[in-house]
Amino acid sequence: MAVKTLNELMDEVRDLNLIQGWRNPREVVTVDPDGIPVGKALVHTSMVELLALIGTECSEAIDAYRDYKLADIRGDNGKPEGVRSELADIFIRLLDVCDIFGVDLEMEYERKMAFNRTRPFRHGGKTL
Ligand SMILES: [Mg+2]
Repeated sequence: MAVKTLNELMDEVRDLNLIQGWRNPREVVTVDPDGIPVGKALVHTSMVELLALIGTECSEAIDAYRDYKLADIRGDNGKPEGVRSELADIFIRLLDVCDIFGVDLEMEYERKMAFNRTRPFRHGGKTL
């Protein structure tokens, strides 16, 4: 399998999300203070929502680890499940949020790793 760059993976995630409608604004019903529907509004996905979705994938990975450890699990419809699949979900959602907000993840990775290499052992004495 050919190795893809992060930017190529990001392109792949964007293309699939566009095809499957995940990048479209959602129509929601607006309500008055009594909860009575009064109209509709288009809602775009926010940075906070996208980051929260990464958190949900982390929770799914934790649950999967508690249930199956690192076993490769398949759902009834052949859907990959389990820790490894959830880690892939985290990565896919990370690529998605970086693409939406114009974050050059390759550059940020290199920049952060360059800084981390300058840090002392356990950042100067931190414990686990
Ligand atoms: Mg998942």
